[in-house]
Amino acid sequence: MTPESRFDLIVIGSGPAGQRAALQGAKGGKRVVIIEDQPLVGGACVHQGTIPSKSLRESIYRYGLSSRGALGSELGEGSQSGEKPAEKKKQLPDLKRLWRRRDRVIPNESAVIQDQLRRNGVLVVHGRGRLTGPNSVEVKSQTGTQHLEGQFIFVATGASPVCPAQLKADAPGLILDSNTLLGMKRLPRTLVVLGAGVIGAEYASMFSIAGTQVTLVDKRTEVLSSVDREIAAQLIQRLEHEGTKIALGCEATRIEARKKRGSDEYTARVHLSNGTVVDAEKVLVCLGRAGNTAGLGLQELGIQVDDRGLVKVDRHFATSVPSIYAVGDVVGSPALAATSYEQGRIACGHAFDFDREGKAVELEMPVNFPYGIYTIPEISMIGKTEEQLRAEGASFVTGRARYRELARGQIVGDRWGLLKLLVDRATLRILGVHIIGDNAADLIHIGQAVMAFDGDVRYFIRSVFNYPTLAEAYKTAAFHAYNQIHGLTRHK
Ligand SMILES: Cc1cc2nc3c(=O)[nH]c(=O)nc-3n(C[C@H](O)[C@H](O)[C@H](O)COP(=O)(O)OP(=O)(O)OC[C@H]3O[C@@H](n4cnc5c(N)ncnc54)[C@H](O)[C@@H]3O)c2cc1C
Repeated sequence: MTPESRFDLIVIGSGPAGQRAALQGAKGGKRVVIIEDQPLVGGACVHQGTIPSKSLRESIYRYGLSSRGALGSELGEGSQSGEKPAEKKKQLPDLKRLWRRRDRVIPNESAVIQDQLRRNGVLVVHGRGRLTGPNSVEVKSQTGTQHLEGQFIFVATGASPVCPAQLKADAPGLILDSNTLLGMKRLPRTLVVLGAGVIGAEYASMFSIAGTQVTLVDKRTEVLSSVDREIAAQLIQRLEHEGTKIALGCEATRIEARKKRGSDEYTARVHLSNGTVVDAEKVLVCLGRAGNTAGLGLQELGIQVDDRGLVKVDRHFATSVPSIYAVGDVVGSPALAATSYEQGRIACGHAFDFDREGKAVELEMPVNFPYGIYTIPEISMIGKTEEQLRAEGASFVTGRARYRELARGQIVGDRWGLLKLLVDRATLRILGVHIIGDNAADLIHIGQAVMAFDGDVRYFIRSVFNYPTLAEAYKTAAFHAYNQIHGLTRHK
């Protein structure tokens, strides 16, 4: 083993978790290498997950505004007459044009990451990594096999979509997942989305706004089951307004591939457990993701991996082998880019004891972190839901502000927006913030900051907010909550 192949930290995977771990190590003066199987760095986040899906969402959102939304009303194309978009004959936009934003953003994002790693002295080796011991990794690439040694090895290999065997069909391009969807050339007229979790709900809402007739199916009886029920109900209302059909409490048992007459293409006939049958041009399967751990050599080292390929770690993201950590989607929930970054940083600080050296800020995940769900309309939340607080027997009030009550809400034309503040009756502290509507994922950080600094609802009442803004929703909701606590009536 030459000195060049010895590292303080070997990271397998260049997604958010791996990047942040590597950068934290490099900033702490450690010699770091990232092993990445793909030709470009950035992980599934940049190439298949967050960035492509959010780029498509942005394109469809803007298209929706100009064709049928608020802007469309000004252009005389909107539904001022009260006619539902679903009732209008829909002209599907050109998907190739909608992908242009993605095609511009992905290479730029990857180049920014590559540059950041280079500037911090992190070496990137392209190839497939496999652990061969507690401190050794083998990297296979087209040019040969390399052997590396590291004081610590971080597994940041991410996750991939799963598709149950009974839902597979021998028809190219008919059944898609969040990876293969990215190769789609045109929007389907009809689409069945299986799974009403975050990825399924996001894509269902996007395609629906674009004009596709979407059927969203889930065996659970709720859409986005972890979201505040009032917010989820608001989303369902909006999806149905767009013509989305929602089938809950049932699942797909079989998909029949039916060849189109005089063509090489197939359409799908989806059989649901409730006996109904839905025909569609495409099926999008969003039924969960499994950790990318096959062939990594973890079990051989005694590291526990569950039946979904997820690695068992402690709260510092250490595995049962002290030199090996696992971070990001490969350890499971919450499986977000935002939390993966943090996990990488925290784990690296823990491994090298940066806290003692004064090089790390925090070594544990915060209790409260936000969730952003990029459906159209956007959803974001932090803290507890009303349902959780009720189950705990908490004494709280709910302050509500509807976007349509705000000048900015009127200007942007968001009729659906809603911000909820859940406020403790005794302490006036904020127990949860739940938002659906424009800019929800940005707005949530105001509530997050107040919660983190142990502020209470009076902060919003005493503060002056820019006018007109959507952030004023906090003030309106705060007054609503405060007045309930003090028995004042709401003049509405
Ligand atoms: C459709 C979709 C939308 C999403 N939207 C959001 C969102 O809006 N907000 C959000 O916060 N999160 C979102 N996510 C989740 C987010 O993308 C993930 O949480 C994040 O990418 C996880 O980062 P990671 O570092 O764990 O792994 P990944 O980003 O998955 O990166 C893992 C990397 O490891 C590499 N790798 C795997 N095995 C090996 C090996 N043996 N050797 C070498 N390299 C290997 C892979 O090639 C990959 O580059 C979305 C995910 C999907 C699928």
